[in-house]
Amino acid sequence: MGYDYKKNKFKKDSYINILLMLILYLMFSQIISIVIKSFLVKNMQDNSAQSVKVHISRLENSDYATDLANDFLEERLFTACQTVLNHEGELSNEFLEEISRVHKVDHIYWYNSQAKIEYTANDYLGWQASEGDPIYEFAMGDEKVLIEPIRRAEDSNIYTKYGQMKGKNGFVQVGILADKIQELTKQFCPQGFINDLVEQEDISYAYYLDNENKVIFCNDDIDRRTFELNNDEKNAIENSQVYYAEKNHLGQDVYEIIHPIYMGDMKKGSLIIMYTMESLKSLKNKLYIIALGLLTISCLIYIVYIYKTRKYNNMLNKLAYYDSVLGIYNQNYLERLFEEEITHRASVNKAIMLIKYKNYDMVRLNYGQEAVNNMLVKNINHLKKLPVDNIQFRYSEDTISVYLEDYKDKNQLKELSDLVLNLFGKNLNEPGRGSFLSISLGIIEIDKNVKSFIDLSNYIESLSRILETGKANEYVICDERRKEKFLLDKKVEKELLDAYFRNYDEFYLLYQPYLDLKTNRIVGVEVLARWENKELGFIPPDKFIDIAEKTNIIVSLGKWIIKRSCEFLKSLENKGIDDVKVAINISVVQLIQDDFVSEVLAIIEETKVNPKMLKFEITESALIDNYQLISKKLDLLRMEGISVSLDDFGTGHSSLYRLRKIKIDYLKIDKSFIGYIHSKEKDALINSIISMAKDLDLKVIAEGVEEEVQKEYLKENNCDIIQGYLLSRPIPDEDVISLIKDYNKTGEK
Ligand code: C2E
Ligand code: CA
Ligand code: CA
Repeated sequence: MGYDYKKNKFKKDSYINILLMLILYLMFSQIISIVIKSFLVKNMQDNSAQSVKVHISRLENSDYATDLANDFLEERLFTACQTVLNHEGELSNEFLEEISRVHKVDHIYWYNSQAKIEYTANDYLGWQASEGDPIYEFAMGDEKVLIEPIRRAEDSNIYTKYGQMKGKNGFVQVGILADKIQELTKQFCPQGFINDLVEQEDISYAYYLDNENKVIFCNDDIDRRTFELNNDEKNAIENSQVYYAEKNHLGQDVYEIIHPIYMGDMKKGSLIIMYTMESLKSLKNKLYIIALGLLTISCLIYIVYIYKTRKYNNMLNKLAYYDSVLGIYNQNYLERLFEEEITHRASVNKAIMLIKYKNYDMVRLNYGQEAVNNMLVKNINHLKKLPVDNIQFRYSEDTISVYLEDYKDKNQLKELSDLVLNLFGKNLNEPGRGSFLSISLGIIEIDKNVKSFIDLSNYIESLSRILETGKANEYVICDERRKEKFLLDKKVEKELLDAYFRNYDEFYLLYQPYLDLKTNRIVGVEVLARWENKELGFIPPDKFIDIAEKTNIIVSLGKWIIKRSCEFLKSLENKGIDDVKVAINISVVQLIQDDFVSEVLAIIEETKVNPKMLKFEITESALIDNYQLISKKLDLLRMEGISVSLDDFGTGHSSLYRLRKIKIDYLKIDKSFIGYIHSKEKDALINSIISMAKDLDLKVIAEGVEEEVQKEYLKENNCDIIQGYLLSRPIPDEDVISLIKDYNKTGEK
């Protein structure tokens, strides 16, 4: 019994959803990781490009600063020289020391014209420059002033900037140590820049290469000679491209960026910056965790949303597809199941079992709704024990439908039917509060003839009707013949409905006379409806009355017949025939309508007929279920003068007791009994019916009299009236009127 549509579907759905979500989740987290990484790398690249820009501007600044410092130094050298020359006559070592202090210069020497130091603020007093020495060259040359570029003093190896200026008898030399210039421009130099770079948390290494790819600056703590470029790097540098790569450098994972350094159009070298992957990784992880957190929260929100909507949908489905009283699906769900599942299961045997409770209303009236519900629930639990897959639905108040699947063959269907009758029977014998519900059961197979749910529900509906009249504790398994009948019934039903909308223009009435045996006069005619349909041809009343009753169309059709019959009666009266009754067949469905009597009276009023000339024939079986209600209505009708005949007597189960209580005028013995009469030999059954009717003061009519001998027998045995082919078949109004005229001319009144 593993088949549960809802569960399967739900499970399948949720697995697919969860899988989909997992895939999406993984995909998104992967995308996030990639996005974060590329974002960070992009950031590093931007950062490095920015660094390069900064560096270039620092380099430019450094040149500028050097120039500036040079100008400044020259200025100072110049001023110091000028001051000395202004005091050429008062020179002394002390004086020079004073000047050196005031003008913040490091060396001052006064040379005579032979380039010999005469005064000094420092050492070297008496030192004389020899030929070849720049001082000597200056002393001997024509130039008055010489400001030299920074040079290294040969003895001290110290970079110094010297300036010389000639006076009247000699010249002064002033020197400022260039280290101080260095001091001034140091902050602009590449080494400072490299130091600044590596101080940044995320940068591990920085190298500054000259145009020969020699490292000229790098981290302080690294031996620059160990640095080597690989081919890719060399190529990039050669082509002055910006180069990015992840690599391992000195045992550390780094992200390397190489930028060419240009000042104006001049390539000054290349800058290599290596970012630590650690900080990249940890930043990436942080961002990743945040993003993942957000993603997880969104997923959770989505799941909650899905869960809520599913719950809501389930609730709606439950309302639409569920019978909460019995805890099973309703018929709407069968439709959905059919469309979504059953039609696609071509290879397995499928069927619908209908279980109709015969005495549902009676049991409910006696025991209450709750007790009935409990019994039904118990029965449904029994169904779960069936040896084939099945799903139960509530078809209607008193009917349960069961979808059966994957049974072997028709024989198994029979076994299943017996089993269900048995299981439910057990319920009946349960101790304590047993069930008094009795069922009748029907099965219809869902085979290739069932092409749509409409087909199926038509079959089910027809089957349900059969069960209504079927016997308790019996089952019907629909064969092809039955299914064909169902289909025809459905067609008839449709045509009947069309006829209703066309005001029954396809219908007409025939009239069958009946004869009083004593007077040998026609004392009445029975009205019999006929239907000639365009689609289906002639449809006998046996076929359509049933369906008209089940679809309630009989109420309107019946009214139409009564009206036409009254018009016929009126035409009889108009022709001076005032002793022939018109007998109309009335269905029990018509009778139980609230307004039946008033409708009849309205027609009598309208057609101005004598109600005493009207007779209503009702079938014996009509009395069984609605005895009290019908008896009341018949009383009302009889009070108006309409006589009542009990039709088809002998086929139902009327008890004499009941017959005594109900007030009728005629008893019509069913034609099946008359068919047994073949001679004048006594027929006990017919005789007892006749004598019983006489006891009750009823007139007896025999229908279906086809043979003379039957007429003779009935006449001799006290039957009052006969009707049948012997006298006349049902015939049109004109014909029956002339027949009456002919017949009654000779007979006595
Ligand atoms: P019913 O009321 O018992 O009508 C008698 C049926 O027996 C009629 O069949 C009639 O044609 C047929 N019949 C009459 N004499 C003989 C005979 O000698 N031998 C044989 N074998 N049959 C004879 P019909 O007209 O086919 O009607 C069948 C049933 O349909 C009727 O049975 C009646 O129950 C129902 N019916 C017919 N017309 C109406 C109607 O206007 N209203 C209602 N509610 N039911 C009708
Ligand atoms: Ca009849
Ligand atoms: Ca009959």
